Amino acid sequence: MIYNEIQNLLKTTTAILIFISFPLFVFSQNPMLPLEKNGYQKLTSYAELTTFIKELDSKSDLVKVEKIGHSVEWRDLYALMFSATEFGRDSSKIKVLVFAQQHGNEQSGKEGALLLAQTLLKPENRYLFDKIDFALVPQMNPDGSEANKRRNANGMDLNRNHLILTEPETFALHAFFDKYLFEVTVDVHEYSPYSEAWKKYGYRKNSDITIGGTTNVNVSKTIRKFSDENYLPYILKYLNDRNFSSFEYCPGGPPEIDYIRHSTFDINDGRQSFGIQNTFSFIQEGMNGKDDSIENIRRRAEGQMTGMRGMLEYVYLHKDKIKEIVTDGRKKLIAGIPGEEISIQSEHVRNGKKLNIPLLSYFSGKDSVVTVNDYRPVVKTLYNVKKPVGYLIPGDRQEVAAWAANQSLKLTLFKDTGVYKIESYLINRVDSIDFEGDIVANPEAVAMKFPITIKDNQCYFLSTAQLKGNMIVLALEPKSMLGLATYPKFAGLLNGWESFPILRVIEK
Ligand SMILES: [Zn+2]
Repeated sequence: MIYNEIQNLLKTTTAILIFISFPLFVFSQNPMLPLEKNGYQKLTSYAELTTFIKELDSKSDLVKVEKIGHSVEWRDLYALMFSATEFGRDSSKIKVLVFAQQHGNEQSGKEGALLLAQTLLKPENRYLFDKIDFALVPQMNPDGSEANKRRNANGMDLNRNHLILTEPETFALHAFFDKYLFEVTVDVHEYSPYSEAWKKYGYRKNSDITIGGTTNVNVSKTIRKFSDENYLPYILKYLNDRNFSSFEYCPGGPPEIDYIRHSTFDINDGRQSFGIQNTFSFIQEGMNGKDDSIENIRRRAEGQMTGMRGMLEYVYLHKDKIKEIVTDGRKKLIAGIPGEEISIQSEHVRNGKKLNIPLLSYFSGKDSVVTVNDYRPVVKTLYNVKKPVGYLIPGDRQEVAAWAANQSLKLTLFKDTGVYKIESYLINRVDSIDFEGDIVANPEAVAMKFPITIKDNQCYFLSTAQLKGNMIVLALEPKSMLGLATYPKFAGLLNGWESFPILRVIEK
């Protein structure tokens, strides 16, 4: 009898222990999301974000928090490093980087990223990290986020700063990328469909999530083709199957008032700056709140999370193929192919296709499909240059040398061994050219015929045989519509009737 009673007591105790420990177990695996703690009534502050991710770090062996830099107001920028082993150690794995909230008023990117971090720690998602080392930067612009403003505390648009890297936030992200050379990147944003122009038009965009790849024609064709034909259909369907409406990233419009295109081909944003290094690179945009950033935040965060999670599942399934096309593309950049054509002026053009775009009617309140005639899905080259062996930056152009150092480019002091020819451009006059609705400088640059000799150690030599080789050409050619000279900080490079200070080193 006593024995049975003890047995029963033990059973009950075990049951009670299981009952008590179960919720504790769940809690210890998954700290509560700040957004949920706040009842979805208040956005996650920088302080709450910091506490939450440190809690994740302390409670899971799968994730470690790394500081990758700081903001203008000296807030830390964090990366959550998910790996089943040591991050970046196993070269058979694929490295993925997702970064969110470069624009401080696009809050669902950050909230979705935090939700993703929480979700990934569930045991059923652990398999992903057998093949993937995943770095997640949930908040690129903490200063902007705290003020709910687009720009950083210097008033700079971070997503136009990835070429010149003058801001601590973009500098930190690229230094972090350079350290691991991620094969896949996704830049997470929001779009706002509520402008007056669209209201007048009577319809607005209404997709929960849009996704776009790279369009700069200097990015590996294989990567662009695989992105458009394989990844995009997968991820758009993945989102639809989970009840989030989705569409390819299509800025522009309203239809027939302004043309509709895909991604910019500029390389100063989050996706193209990595794309130009032959990364499998994308933008994801969720729909912003209508009246304020908190509106509908739960669903917006879930949509963003679902897009990021779908991407990880896709990368898991196609790891070898993605690694192959990225490795091939990067090998070509690092080898450097002098004489290869590099497109430095382009435009968006039609290809005869019409776009059927899903829109919400302001009149009926119903979803409709509108056919767009002025749809320009193709980026066409207007002007090519032959890739030089490298460029010479005169020693007195310290701002350009500092830029190259910020981009972690390989710079050496130049000694003329007579192997190469040095070429200089005379800027005859400076016209302008339309670039996606903006006006940028279009100089008439004539290669001068007379031979140039450079004394030893007077110039820095910047080889184009490196991962950022195509970016270097786009940055330093005087006629490049994406070049350094189009930024106020470097406008002094272009003066009419003078020679362009950056010299080209070409094969004899
Ligand atoms: Zn944005």
